[in-house]
Amino acid sequence: MELTAAEAWSRILESARGMLPEQGYQTWLAPTSPVGLANNVLVISAPNPFAAEWIEDKYGVLLASQAHALFGSALKLSFESRPNTSQLAPKAPAVQLTGLEEAEPEADETRVRTTGRCAIGALNPRYTLSRFVIARNNELAAAACKAVVEEPGRTYNPLFLHGGVGLGKTHLMHAIGHAVLERTPDARVAYVASEQFTNELIESIQGRRTTQFRNRFRTMDLLLVDDVHFLADKDATQEELFHTFNALYDRQKQIVLASDRPPSAVLGLQDRLVSRFEWGLVTDLKPPDYETRLAILQLKAEHENLELGHDVLSLIASRCDSSVRALEGAVIKLLAYSSLTREEMTPELAERLLSSALRAGRAGTAAEIAAAVAAYFGVSEKALASKSRARDVALPRQVAMYLIKQILDLPYTMIGRHFGGRDHSTVIHAVRKVDKLAQSDPAFRQKLEELRSQLAGKPTPL
Ligand code: ADP
Ligand code: MG
Repeated sequence: MELTAAEAWSRILESARGMLPEQGYQTWLAPTSPVGLANNVLVISAPNPFAAEWIEDKYGVLLASQAHALFGSALKLSFESRPNTSQLAPKAPAVQLTGLEEAEPEADETRVRTTGRCAIGALNPRYTLSRFVIARNNELAAAACKAVVEEPGRTYNPLFLHGGVGLGKTHLMHAIGHAVLERTPDARVAYVASEQFTNELIESIQGRRTTQFRNRFRTMDLLLVDDVHFLADKDATQEELFHTFNALYDRQKQIVLASDRPPSAVLGLQDRLVSRFEWGLVTDLKPPDYETRLAILQLKAEHENLELGHDVLSLIASRCDSSVRALEGAVIKLLAYSSLTREEMTPELAERLLSSALRAGRAGTAAEIAAAVAAYFGVSEKALASKSRARDVALPRQVAMYLIKQILDLPYTMIGRHFGGRDHSTVIHAVRKVDKLAQSDPAFRQKLEELRSQLAGKPTPL
């Protein structure tokens, strides 16, 4: 298929637009432009590094799924910050989109850095160990990662990282990939999100290319599998991962996994995988304390030349106490505000801008989460607690149960009590159902992510 970068990007945007709130689209996606399309990687530029990161984080999955639907899995997206390049876009070269073959290294230096030197997947150039602040909340995980880099496949195999959203799991996995490639440039490294592993497996089955799929993954030296909680109930994928795991493990090749919860707590994960994931080291990441949050912001400010003073950074650190993602969201919000209004950012202004978002954003109680979900779906709180099984009430109720579990991690029985005394199996069913729906429906996942970031303290985009 002959395709230019501009055509590809505009078709992806067009199909994603209907699934996004218009304001989010205008703030974040409208200012992007396509830079080029080569070796099946479509490079998109955003006005600044934060916007690139934000888009990747918040809209990456949705955009990738649209790209996948339109052009097949061969097309990968890569976001970078490259101001004032929009005039380059229309001249982007037309290239041939091919099957699943690996991308050849690109001549252009910046492009190579953006996509990394992974045999499968891409490493974010910002996610290195030198850009990771190590503190009490993550020191075990970071030490384990360093040990893995020193002696891959020998000390902790597999290494299983778990923890809440935005605490640095993906960052650490990429950092391992970078460090291993730095030491052994010809090492075969694969980084895949579980969802991508699933998609590629399905495609290989449809295209009768399963042997090729298997050989690719089973010949790696380092396999990084992110977000394994997405594998819940995907039996064929779990089967494949099980054999891939065994093949690599037998050859003493390193495997690193990440999830939002420990192996035994991932619902719908086969016992044989749970037990293998526990063979090596299982370690968690916790939310950072104030000093660590400030250190992270300072490191970021230094690397990205942010025009935010120390006072403003410490204000952000004291106000955003959930994840590192929330810190970054606050920084983006402030930078976007001052670049739109050209007002200088002072601690007072920052306080004002952040406080409304934060008031709405405290994790709060189960009742507050239920109220926020009810408001979001336009149903009454009373209806959520009622016996009604009508779909327009049942789904919001299940979403509220799911979010309470995710954010507050209350016992199922306790959650059931909030909703008219439902028993724990009803709550487990709700959590599974919402998990499943989020996996199969990108628009629903986007809504869920939005609700969750509102509730977990991430400021909403301006
Ligand atoms: P997770 O995979 O756990 O959801 P990520 O690895 O995506 O989280 O981290 C979210 C963001 O926070 C990333 O931009 C990452 O670089 C940043 N981050 C998280 N922890 C740290 C840390 N300790 N030092 C520096 N940046 C961090
Ligand atoms: Mg992650």
